[in-house]
Amino acid sequence: MPTTADAGTGRPPEVQRPLWQRIDRTDLARTVFLAACSVAVALGATWPWDRLPVIAVVGLVAGCWPILTEAVRDAVNRRMSMELSMLIAIIAAAAIGEWTTALVITTFVLAAEILEDLSMDRGRGALTDLMTFLPDTVRVRGAGATVTTVPRDQVRPGQTVVVPPGGRIPVDGTVTAGHSTVDQSRITGESLPVDVTVDDTVFAGSVNQVGAVEIRADRVGADSSYGRIMEAVRLAQSSEPPVQRLADRLAAWLVYLALGGALVTYLLTRDLTATISVIVVAGACGIAAGTPLAVLAAIARIARAGAFVKDGAHLEALSTVDTVVFDKTGTLTTGRPTVTRVITVPGGPDEDALLSYAAAAENYSEHPLGRAVVAHAQTLGLPVEASQNFTYSPGLGVSAEVGGRQVTAGNTAFVPGAPASFPNEVATAVHIGVDGRYAGSVLLADEIRPTSSRAVADLHDEGVRTIMITGDSAGTALAVGRAVGVTDVRADLLPEDKTTVIDRERAAGHRLVMVGDGVNDAPALAKADVGIAMGGGTDIARESSDVILVSSDPRDLVTTLRTARRARRIVTFNFIGTVTVDLAGIVLAASGLLSPVVAAFVHVGSETAFILNSARLIPGRQRRTPPR
Ligand code: ADP
Ligand code: MG
Repeated sequence: MPTTADAGTGRPPEVQRPLWQRIDRTDLARTVFLAACSVAVALGATWPWDRLPVIAVVGLVAGCWPILTEAVRDAVNRRMSMELSMLIAIIAAAAIGEWTTALVITTFVLAAEILEDLSMDRGRGALTDLMTFLPDTVRVRGAGATVTTVPRDQVRPGQTVVVPPGGRIPVDGTVTAGHSTVDQSRITGESLPVDVTVDDTVFAGSVNQVGAVEIRADRVGADSSYGRIMEAVRLAQSSEPPVQRLADRLAAWLVYLALGGALVTYLLTRDLTATISVIVVAGACGIAAGTPLAVLAAIARIARAGAFVKDGAHLEALSTVDTVVFDKTGTLTTGRPTVTRVITVPGGPDEDALLSYAAAAENYSEHPLGRAVVAHAQTLGLPVEASQNFTYSPGLGVSAEVGGRQVTAGNTAFVPGAPASFPNEVATAVHIGVDGRYAGSVLLADEIRPTSSRAVADLHDEGVRTIMITGDSAGTALAVGRAVGVTDVRADLLPEDKTTVIDRERAAGHRLVMVGDGVNDAPALAKADVGIAMGGGTDIARESSDVILVSSDPRDLVTTLRTARRARRIVTFNFIGTVTVDLAGIVLAASGLLSPVVAAFVHVGSETAFILNSARLIPGRQRRTPPR
C-alpha cells in the first residue's frame, strides 16, 4: 500500500467510500434504536402498558450518552453548546412524564449529528480525492543507458525519471525525451489531457497516457505540486478562520437566548411544555456545522480549479478583496522572454562579445531575463565563461567578475551611462556595463499570457480594481498594461517600492490581493491582505504567499476569488437564516403554538437546510483515470 507520509501529512489520503459505508455503525445503530423506542412508546401510549417508562429510560440512557459526553467536553472547554441545552430539554420532558417527546428529541439530535458528520466527511473527501497515489517506486536513468528502480523518496532534483505509458508522474519536472499526452486534471484543474514533448513542464500526480517519456526532476517530494497540495490539505483541515470563531460565538449566544427565553416563558406562563419547546426550537447547529463545511468545501473547489489556499483565514480575506495588484514580468507575462535585438556602442565589444559578457554575468541568475540571455548565447554557440562574485540586486540587475572585468547587467538605474529608452521599442532592455562603462544593451520581448486580459476583464466585472506594478521601464509597462486592460500602471519600482504601493493602498482602506512570481515580489506578497504566487515562479514567492496558482494561469485567480465570495454569501445566509428561524421559533414556542416534537422538527429541518446550503460548494467527483 503506497503511503504519502513523505509528502508532508504523515497520513495517507482517505479514498472516497460509498455513503452508507461512511456512516459510523454505532451512531447509526443508536439512532435506529432510539427511533424504534420512540415509535414503541408513542404507540404504547395508546395502550395501557406499564413497562413504557422502562423502555423510555433504557432508550434515553443509550441515546443521551454521546450527547452527555459532548456536553461535558464543551463545558470543560468553557464552551456553551447545543448539546447542553438539548440535554436540559430532554431531561425536563422526561421529568414531566413526556416520554415520547424526550425520545423523539433525542432521535432528532442523533440524526442531525450523523448528517453533520457525513457532510464534513464529504467536504474532506472532496479535498483528499484530489490526490492520487504516487507510484511507490520510480525508474531512474543513471549514467549511460542503465535504468534502475528506486523508492520514490530517493529521487533527487536533476535526476532523469522514466515514466511508461499509463504510469503516474512522480515529480515536477521537464520532459527530456519522448512525447505523450498527460492528464493533469488533479493538479492544474485542466480537464483536457495536454500534449507534452521535450522541454514541457509536467507535474507530480498527473497521469502519463500514451507514450513513454523521460523527465528531468525539478521538484520532488514536499516541494512538488503534489507535496504542496498535501500540505494545503493538511492546513485547510486544521485551520480555524475568524468566521469560524464568529460562528461559534453566535451559536453560543443562541443557546443563551434559548435558555433565557425558556426561563422567561416558564415564569410568565408556568407552562412546562411550552418552555421545553422554546429550548428545543433554537438550534444553531446550522451555522456551527455549516460554516466549517463551507470553508472546507470552498477550499476543495478552488483546489480542483488548480489553486491552493493555505488556510481558511485567507479564504475569508479573499472574499472581501476590492483590489488586485499584479506584478508584470512572470505574472501577466509568461516570464519567458526572448532576445530580439542586441545594441552595441562604438568602441565597445561587438554583438557576440557583448552577449558572452552578459551571459557570463547572468549565469547564476534565477531571473527570467537573465536566463533568456544565457539561453540565447548558448543557442548561438557563444563561449560563456565562468564568473566570480555574482551578486543580484532585486529589481535592478546583476553583477559579476568575468575574466577579470567587472560586468553589470540591469536596468537604467543600475548601469550608469545607459540610455533611458530606445525609441520605437517596447522590449525590455538589459543594459550591460563593463568596468563601470556602458557597453551596450540586449533587448528582450516577453509574451503576454494568453489568459491575462480575460482574467483582468473578469475581475473588473466582479467590481475589483486592478493595478500593475513592475520594476521594468514605463514604456514596456504601459504597453503591457494597454494589452491586458490594466490602466493603473506603476513602473520603475524597486522591491521596497512595491511594498510601499501595497502599504499606501491598504492605508487608503483598500483590501488587496498581490499576485507575483519573483524574488522581488516576496515582500509585497507578504504585506498584502492576500499574497498569491504563480506556481511556476520562484520558491521564495511561493513561500511568502497565501495562495498558489499551480498552473500559473491568472484566470484561476478569478475562480478563487469568486468561490471565496460565494462561500461568504453562503455563510452569511446561514447566519441570518439561523437567527431568523430561532427568533421566530422562540416566539411561537413561547406562545404555546409549537409542541416540543414540532419544535425539534423545526430545529433539525432548518439545520439540515443550512448544512445542505453549505454542501452545495462541495465540488463534484472527478473522472478518475484508472491506473495501469
Ligand atoms: P518585475 O517587477 O516586472 O517582475 P523585476 O523587478 O524582476 O521585474 O525587474 C525589474 C527590472 O530590473 C527589469 O526589467 C530589468 O531591467 C532589471 N533586472 C532585474 N533583474 C535583472 C537581471 N537578472 N538581469 C538584467 N536585468 C535585470
Ligand atoms: Mg515578476
